[in-house]
Amino acid sequence: MKHMVHGDIVIDDTTLRDGEQTAGVVFSRREKIAIARMLDSIGVQELECGIPAMGEEERDSIRALVDLGLNARLITWNRAVIPDIQASLDCGITAVDISLSVSDQMIGHKLRKSRGWVKEQLKTALGFAKEHDLYVSVGGEDASRADIHFLIELMEITREMGGDRFRFCDTLGVLDPFTMYDKVRGLRRAVPELDVEVHTHNDLGMATANAIAGIRAGARFVNTTVNGLGERAGNAPLEEVVMGLKLACGLDPGVDTHRFQELSRFVARASDRPVPPWKAVVGERVFSHESGLHADGVIKDPRNYEGFDPADVGLKRYFVLGKHSGTSGVVERYRDMGISVSRQEAIFILERVRSIAQRVKRPLNEKELRMLHRKWGLKAA
Ligand SMILES: [Zn+2]
Repeated sequence: MKHMVHGDIVIDDTTLRDGEQTAGVVFSRREKIAIARMLDSIGVQELECGIPAMGEEERDSIRALVDLGLNARLITWNRAVIPDIQASLDCGITAVDISLSVSDQMIGHKLRKSRGWVKEQLKTALGFAKEHDLYVSVGGEDASRADIHFLIELMEITREMGGDRFRFCDTLGVLDPFTMYDKVRGLRRAVPELDVEVHTHNDLGMATANAIAGIRAGARFVNTTVNGLGERAGNAPLEEVVMGLKLACGLDPGVDTHRFQELSRFVARASDRPVPPWKAVVGERVFSHESGLHADGVIKDPRNYEGFDPADVGLKRYFVLGKHSGTSGVVERYRDMGISVSRQEAIFILERVRSIAQRVKRPLNEKELRMLHRKWGLKAA
């Protein structure tokens, strides 16, 4: 896998489609444009940007995105029916995702149809899309619970009719990375000429792991959303998938990570879904160090206790003074505040910091630290 180079993996970010589909989330047109511009500027290659069949207002938003002339390819979500695809064409879109329910559960109990009916829908919709020169991803909704032989049949139809890729969706987020790997690998082997895209959900906390497992099994396209926004427990977060690919797998999807924190905060505000301070990769406080040994290790060389430089994702490092702190942390934290304290002073102050932190059950804030220094700093000197 290490031989793969930038360009091999395509991030298809669906913040503007699956992200907005989150219960209670609505983006304004201005917000959609800002999010699309940011994603485009950091090098995300494809944006799933909406559902034209939803109505005129959605179509106007999509047209506004088309008018931006981004480098990223815009792709829309469509049911496998001609009017949906026509609505996409009317927006000036050149790429579509055509979605079909593919598990027997959904075919039987949601559509109340048969596998044969699903195949006919695919042929009609894909035929229409290809007549209009659209780039097509055929999306298998609930593919993770579907019969793999049926998926292969659908992929073969897709390939024969000139479809461009097949989207394997773990719609309910029920797979583990090992099963994900096996299934995607099986599909790749059965129909090697057709690219696979993976779409994962976080219901069991495995969206990122499953997205990466899909790529390692040979999928070339991967869906993400900023902050993991999306239906129920959400999708695979863009920031986690990109950093995971780069650091854990040595694969570079060609995305500039330095604006991740800015992008994350913008989407958090626009979606009214605040990012927890401990959220992987973009949480405000994931690079906080309190424990004496860790703080001392980071001060000597950040690589001792940081898997990557916080600046790589636009974050900062914090030294927190509390119950677990040591003297190096005290000296460093006061230096950050513009106060130089001696080792002796630090020992003295640390004793007070620990006892206060124990009592108030939290680290000390800057105001409290300044007061402590005024009261005890000189006495220790
Ligand atoms: Zn989804």
